Amino acid sequence: MSQGNCGSAIIKSRSTEAGIAKWIHHTNSLCDWRADVKQLRAYAEHSEEAMIWFWNRAGLTRETEYGDGSKVDSNTDCASLMNDGDKLCAFRCTSGDFTGTWRERGNTYEYGDDHCYFWAPWVGPKPLNAGNALRKIVDNIKKDHANLDTCFQTPAVKLLTKDGRVTGVIGKNAEGNYIEFRASKAVILATGDYTNNAAMVERWCPDIAEFDKKQHGKTGDGHVLAMSAGAHMEPQGHTKMMHDFDSALMWEEPFLYLNMNGERFTNEYTGFVYMGNLLKYQPAYIGSMLDPEHREKGSKGWYCSIYDSDYMNWPAESFVEGKIPPVVMQKFIPGAVADPQGVFKNLIDLHCCDTLEQLAKELDIPYETMKASIDRYNELCDKGCDDDFGKPAQYMHKIEKAPFWGARKHIRVSAGVSGVVINENGQALTAEGNVIPGLYCVGNLGGPFYGGADYPFHQTGLSLGRCYTFGMIAAKHALGKM
Ligand SMILES: Cc1cc2nc3c(=O)[nH]c(=O)nc-3n(C[C@H](O)[C@H](O)[C@H](O)COP(=O)(O)OP(=O)(O)OC[C@H]3O[C@@H](n4cnc5c(N)ncnc54)[C@H](O)[C@@H]3O)c2cc1C
Repeated sequence: MSQGNCGSAIIKSRSTEAGIAKWIHHTNSLCDWRADVKQLRAYAEHSEEAMIWFWNRAGLTRETEYGDGSKVDSNTDCASLMNDGDKLCAFRCTSGDFTGTWRERGNTYEYGDDHCYFWAPWVGPKPLNAGNALRKIVDNIKKDHANLDTCFQTPAVKLLTKDGRVTGVIGKNAEGNYIEFRASKAVILATGDYTNNAAMVERWCPDIAEFDKKQHGKTGDGHVLAMSAGAHMEPQGHTKMMHDFDSALMWEEPFLYLNMNGERFTNEYTGFVYMGNLLKYQPAYIGSMLDPEHREKGSKGWYCSIYDSDYMNWPAESFVEGKIPPVVMQKFIPGAVADPQGVFKNLIDLHCCDTLEQLAKELDIPYETMKASIDRYNELCDKGCDDDFGKPAQYMHKIEKAPFWGARKHIRVSAGVSGVVINENGQALTAEGNVIPGLYCVGNLGGPFYGGADYPFHQTGLSLGRCYTFGMIAAKHALGKM
């Protein structure tokens, strides 16, 4: 888990049995019914233990085995999860309770009186993330186990097998020497995704080929190693996670969206998680943040979210997430704040200008087309009906009052979350469904935990949460403790 800030767990003591069953159904529906429900069930059963282990071992909590000895539990609110003196802390919490009628855009999910509660603390703040917490975990464990050997910069290059069982792994260190590691119980691969391997992307998830990637060096080694031992890939149509949380806040708000030609292209009440699909058919753009292979022709994934200075007066039903006051937005405007904190300075891309002409210039979209798009949008707002794209009337607000706001969004690939087929214990399976003895594949390397075109976005932190959980499940299972 080298990236990200929020992992989440289902808290069984605050949920009902039927609520958890409904969550599994809900999640699978967002995965186009292609998830392995046994894996979803395993996550629901074990994520609380895994998350609490993670927070305690990282020493980030008020009361930990590295603090005063008492345990943190899922009732611990995030305000009391403390800064550990190294600036790494729980800075936010987006926990939630699936209960009653759960609404997502046009869809509703009925939980009735049942509950499925998820605990979702965020570790950071940015640019610190879960990777920093993991480093602390390793350091803390080493304090207790002086003979624990860790080998970084030593990628696994070959699995060792004997009579169909995986018995070890060969790594290649920075000096180019090969090291053989013999497994007493099993090999657990947790090598992440393959989004930087162009050939694998083309074969398994071509939708993301024209988009920039947030990660580097994710070459799909683990997939290849596992397949060399008899594992097989999840069927075609792998699940992708594509976001931009960094250019500005209010990423879900259905403001006016324009492509980089200045044209409106969608009903904005679509959902952030699906923008990658829509933008596949919009023009590429040559921006400042591009993968090398896109520098000549640009990449897909760019659009501008436009609103006017009156947005704080818009009625509550105009907002999906909640209004963020202009003062909070300042740190996302390049150059507006001397040393903005809690943001990636190279990714902020929000603009606030007195005229639309100026805004178009800063966003690098053609003013004449932008103006025509805004005029048409304002006309539809006056009419109270979006004849062009069908956006619900409560989200239609004219853009007329200066200063004008524009966020240039850059949707990139956060992760690929499909991998080789495993079972609910994290054990790799052959195409015939047989366990490959001695081999576990966890995190984004395993699946199908999802299965749809897009990562489901109903529960913040599900991705990291399942990675923590399946890491723990695999280790325990390999030790015969599950
Ligand atoms: C910017 C960003 C923000 C994100 N935010 C969130 C978030 O807030 N919440 C959330 O749930 N998800 C988030 N995600 C997604 C989440 O980070 C990933 O799904 C998760 O980190 C995957 O964990 P993993 O252990 O499977 O793989 P990774 O985190 O990719 O870790 C795999 C590790 O294996 C190493 N490795 C690769 N090949 C080898 C080899 N041959 N030998 C040895 N080691 C190898 C890699 O170097 C890497 O360190 C975010 C992703 C990005 C890029």
